[in-house]
Amino acid sequence: MNICLFGPPGSGKGTQASLLIKEFGFIHISTGELLRESLKRQDSLGVAIKKTMAEGALVPDEMVVELVRKFIVSCSSSALLLFDGFPRTIEQSNLFDQLLESNGRSLDMLINLEVDIETIVERISGRRVCEKCGTIWHIVLKPTKNQGICDLCCHELSQRDDDQERVVRQRYNTFLNASLPIFDKYERLGKAWSCSGSLSIEDTFQKVKMKINSIKK
Ligand code: AMP
Repeated sequence: MNICLFGPPGSGKGTQASLLIKEFGFIHISTGELLRESLKRQDSLGVAIKKTMAEGALVPDEMVVELVRKFIVSCSSSALLLFDGFPRTIEQSNLFDQLLESNGRSLDMLINLEVDIETIVERISGRRVCEKCGTIWHIVLKPTKNQGICDLCCHELSQRDDDQERVVRQRYNTFLNASLPIFDKYERLGKAWSCSGSLSIEDTFQKVKMKINSIKK
């Protein structure tokens, strides 16, 4: 099975992905996470994408598709794959279709988590990350006991460059212009489904879980 989690930044793709991995045993790829790891390592990819990522723009298609290609070929043919934050342009989706086909796979469903822009801004611009243990906090929705300090490891929290409000609005516009046409493409093929991402984490998860169970082979 091959599932894409789709939706604007802050729609809860990462949160739903971790629940779906536990529930179904998916092998998961988040292109955003892989790119951030490259940034941290300051490898050649990380250096090349630093400015693009900080501005909330999309990394060139060929760089992202190469990460996804390596991932797909490294997985056994029986593995259930969950793509998170990919594809993000029509060109990526066309290359993705080819990649899946040449590996004996095809997309089963693209799941779109719908969330309005003001909810997204509230969710993302309050997000703070502990660089040491990776825990994600939120100044309103999931505050730490001591402001700016991780409850779990006492390390200082920071804000991702691309989580600033101005950049979040830019990322949302990029989603509308570059990514949303992908939903229409797969919808015409009967392979796209939308679900509200504004519900509680558990309610969204129950709906997504039911959908995946209904298409499981
Ligand atoms: P995310 O964590 O999925 O919100 O991604 C964070 C950032 O990584 C995005 O704002 C883009 O700069 C970059 N990125 C992630 N996935 C892709 C992709 N499929 N295509 C292009 N850029 C991406």
